Amino acid sequence: MALNNNHDNPPPRSGFGFFLIAILLAILGLYFFVDGRNSTIPVMSYSEFLKAVRDGSVTEVRIIDGAQIHGALRGTGGVTYFKTVIPYNDFSLMPLLDESGVLVFGNNSRSQTMSVIIDFLPAILILVFMLIMMRQNAMQNMRGMQFGRSRARIYQQKNKATVTFNDVAGQEEAKRELAEIVSFLKTPKKYLDMGAKIPTGVLLVGSPGTGKTLLARAVAGEADVAFLHISGSDFVEMFVGVGASRVRDLFSQARKLSPAIVFIDELDAVGRARGAGLGGGHDEREQTLNQMLVEMDGFENKDGVIILAATNRPDVLDQALLRPGRFDRQVTVTLPDIKEREAILSVHAKKLKLGEDVDLNKFARSTSGMSGADLANLVNEAALFAAAKDSQKVNALEFEQARDKIIMGVARETMVISDKEKRMTAVHEAGHALQYYFLQHVSPLHKVTVIPRGRALGLTVSIPESDMYAHTRSWFFDQLVVLYGGWAAETLVYDDTTTGTQNDIARATDIARKMVCEWGMSKEMGAIAYGQEEEHIFVGREIARHKTISEQTARNIDAAIEVILSTACKRALDILKDNQDKLTHLADALVEHETLSDPEIRTLLGLQPANQITA
Ligand code: ADP
Ligand code: MG
Ligand code: ZN
Repeated sequence: MALNNNHDNPPPRSGFGFFLIAILLAILGLYFFVDGRNSTIPVMSYSEFLKAVRDGSVTEVRIIDGAQIHGALRGTGGVTYFKTVIPYNDFSLMPLLDESGVLVFGNNSRSQTMSVIIDFLPAILILVFMLIMMRQNAMQNMRGMQFGRSRARIYQQKNKATVTFNDVAGQEEAKRELAEIVSFLKTPKKYLDMGAKIPTGVLLVGSPGTGKTLLARAVAGEADVAFLHISGSDFVEMFVGVGASRVRDLFSQARKLSPAIVFIDELDAVGRARGAGLGGGHDEREQTLNQMLVEMDGFENKDGVIILAATNRPDVLDQALLRPGRFDRQVTVTLPDIKEREAILSVHAKKLKLGEDVDLNKFARSTSGMSGADLANLVNEAALFAAAKDSQKVNALEFEQARDKIIMGVARETMVISDKEKRMTAVHEAGHALQYYFLQHVSPLHKVTVIPRGRALGLTVSIPESDMYAHTRSWFFDQLVVLYGGWAAETLVYDDTTTGTQNDIARATDIARKMVCEWGMSKEMGAIAYGQEEEHIFVGREIARHKTISEQTARNIDAAIEVILSTACKRALDILKDNQDKLTHLADALVEHETLSDPEIRTLLGLQPANQITA
């Protein structure tokens, strides 16, 4: 980012490689040195040596590894040294030396470690070579900092052009939740004096391009504190232990810079459940994860460090990461709706001169399903098109070109929704939503949306009034009716259904099966548990083996499930048939506004406000 101060050190090119080469040369040198020193001593044949012993001219010998002898001779010209090789296991040698009064020393002239090194020299050479090759691989994705040090990019946001909440359009809920963190970082004393507990870790959850990184930077900008940014994949290295030491380093840097925000992007790269894969986990990654857990537990509010992390796969995270004191708070970052898309477009278009014919609201309408990043990209592309034409202003035509380019470009990753699809999703979700207003045993509806989340095209969300731990048969039955609402609406309006019902039907079937087999909620099958015991095989989480039951019982179970499901399905259809005008009305409104809350739906359909309803 051009706005920020990047304190990266220049890459240490091949420093590590040189280090290894130096070791290698040292070993070779020693090898020749030891050998060289030996070679200055004259060699004597073994028979000459035996003769010299018998003559009594040998004063002392040093037997090396039972195979070589270095010795001293007393001659006319003083003491001289010699060496010889023992050609075979000469059992008569020791008695002879003894007899002749020769001083015998064991072991050798080179040190024990040296001889080990020399013996293993070929193996060492191969190893060193392999390390260099591996290192070169690792260097390719290494862009800063020394070996083992954290690669966090530090943005000190003082008197610099910083990102604030104003740069983040929409995302009101996320901003509201993060405002508390900002306030704590600004005036920690206030919170500490009160003894208030501030979360150490906040997890931003949302699909790519929804503005998670932007929000994290905005928190740092609002609070005017240091921002340490690292990606989860930076921790995962070739060498065991490097990731863990990077984590240590990152957190100690953060403590030094405090108050500070540590932002770990792509948390799932390190934070995947441990030992989840077949054939054992990734040791390096697990060590890194463990270190992260240890560091987070070591943090206290007074340290003034808050850890933000981002992921689009909260489901794969290790549960240990989500425990209290760690990432115990989650903030959902969603794809923008019409109003938010317009706001994002105008945030990014602020820097441009727009033609009079540009209606951002119109572009917001035709970009359903695009993320904040897609929209930022759209504005930029429009500016590029205009510049290419030497136009003074960015006109509607350029925006259209940019939109079409992006729709074609992103079609693979992002779901850009056509009007027809949007309408069908609206009918489907309206079918779910309406059920809530005609059923007795359901939690109140929270909101309905036709903005895609994850794999779902739309979503109908309800919020339980209180924590419920046990549910009645009627509660489950009404859940089934709600689940069939989407299917029923599609059937009623289009006389046809889409694959969008797949998940609903699967969930409904699952609930019905449990009602019959586990919870004794079917009259026909009675209060008996059928083959509910699952043996979890040690590996994956979802591999389970079902105990067998008789074929007749299995058929009866299926029949009982069938009865429950078809009754629920018929009920859903009946409710919608009786309220077909409301269904059409709600679907139209969803196409128009994309997201509707419970009060909005009540006003729209002329229903009583929620607080007047007593269940
Ligand atoms: P994520 O981290 O969720 O993948 P980013 O924060 O990297 O997404 O978003 C990429 C870019 O998209 C941002 O730099 C910004 O230009 C733009 N963007 C995303 N969401 C918004 C938003 N709500 N308001 C303004 N710009 C946004
Ligand atoms: Mg990001
Ligand atoms: Zn559905």
